[in-house]
Amino acid sequence: MIKRLVERVQTLFTRKSARVKKEPKRYPAADHRIDRALVSRSAVRVCETLQKAGFDAYIVGGAVRDLLLGVAPKDFDVATNATPEQVKSHFRRAIIIGRRFRLVHVMMGPETIEVSTYRAPVGEEVATDEHGRVLADNVFGQRHEDAARRDFTINAMYYDPTTETLLDYHDGLKDVRRKRLRMIGDPEARYREDPVRMLRAVRFAAKLGFEIDEATRAPIARLAGLIENVPAARVFDEMLKLLTSGHSVACITRLRAEGLHHGLLPLLDVILEQPEGERFVMLALSRTDERVRAGKHIAPGFLFATLLWHEVLKRWKEREARGEHRIPALDAAIDDVLDAQTEKLAIQRRYTSDMREIWMLQPRFERRHGGAPYKLLEHLRLRAGYDFLLLRCAAQEAPAELGDWWTRFMHAPAEEREQLVASARALQPAGVARRRRRRRRGHAAVAVPPPA
Ligand code: ATP
Ligand code: MG
Repeated sequence: MIKRLVERVQTLFTRKSARVKKEPKRYPAADHRIDRALVSRSAVRVCETLQKAGFDAYIVGGAVRDLLLGVAPKDFDVATNATPEQVKSHFRRAIIIGRRFRLVHVMMGPETIEVSTYRAPVGEEVATDEHGRVLADNVFGQRHEDAARRDFTINAMYYDPTTETLLDYHDGLKDVRRKRLRMIGDPEARYREDPVRMLRAVRFAAKLGFEIDEATRAPIARLAGLIENVPAARVFDEMLKLLTSGHSVACITRLRAEGLHHGLLPLLDVILEQPEGERFVMLALSRTDERVRAGKHIAPGFLFATLLWHEVLKRWKEREARGEHRIPALDAAIDDVLDAQTEKLAIQRRYTSDMREIWMLQPRFERRHGGAPYKLLEHLRLRAGYDFLLLRCAAQEAPAELGDWWTRFMHAPAEEREQLVASARALQPAGVARRRRRRRRGHAAVAVPPPA
């Protein structure tokens, strides 16, 4: 009780200072030591162009945070006092996007720089739902107001690449140095405005290896239920960011620890509540983390195929046990899972076709005789299906021998391939026969399709 009271008083003070903080601390290059080589040329050009036209323009948000941590930012955002129309008029390839808050995408070579106009504070005039969640706003503001609207102090710094000055309104630099994640303003009010910030807190803490400041952390467990009011698509986007952050295993451990699971995040329930699939899912996630950290691309379809594979397997087995043929049973099991899960998880349709293809390829890897394996080599999604197979082997859900065989087959010259097919023939009938016998014992009426 006393702890709560102290917390409230503390947060009231931080809130007050967040409101009146009009002048930032200014740090020259010698103090912040941002490495210019890590700053995108395109972002610098966007700032220079706007500044030459008489506007303010700074690199902001996550890019500044990453630069201070010596990490190359994955994308660059720019904030300015120019309106979206004014920004657009200064660039050849630029589009205005967004309905709730309009911003400009400036395309330069392969890069897209997101340019947003300073935002006004959340005031009385902004519509909120009954829990305080902001529903709509589109008001421009001043720079210090824009800073106060950002979520964490480490995400609210402004870097001018021309003068190399860092503007810091909320002691973000100190927090970066202390490895501390601190919400700007009153954490409870900020979580109520936008409950997704709770997920962001967990993601940044896990990804950056930061401690969450106690006042920022404390309300999370209590307010976790507010996530349910957020549109599923937005929660999905944030979960996707979390899963592809390169630290998904750490994020999930942390979400659990903060009480942000069970019933709130359907995707997380899928991950955590499949006893048989847990090993597979955790392995898939740690492999995803390795890929992200090595700078490799992550296909969301592949990721979701791993998360839901054990659901598919369960239903597939059930259908086979009821006497359905192997391939149609898999096809129907996939329908069952996608029908039940895609809406709940808000998985976009463009990912579900990838998932289906990856899953449908799995039984085809078992057919290693005649022309079947050669035909599979021409399949457009072979690589994804094969990577998925290797994951199943690593999780001991498919025989390691099968994965090894395909690795050799895919890389072998023509005559060696023939030998491999011949050697697989020796293996295959025994395997198929074993499967048949087992079925016959358990389910008298099961029809097993002959190997093609
Ligand atoms: P990442 O490295 O994951 O892209 P980021 O900090 O750049 O991290 P973005 O989602 O790209 O995160 O957002 C850019 C910036 O916009 C943030 O740094 C933060 O200042 C602000 N921001 C984003 N989402 C919110 C939010 N829900 N509430 C307040 N500010 C936000
Ligand atoms: Mg970003």
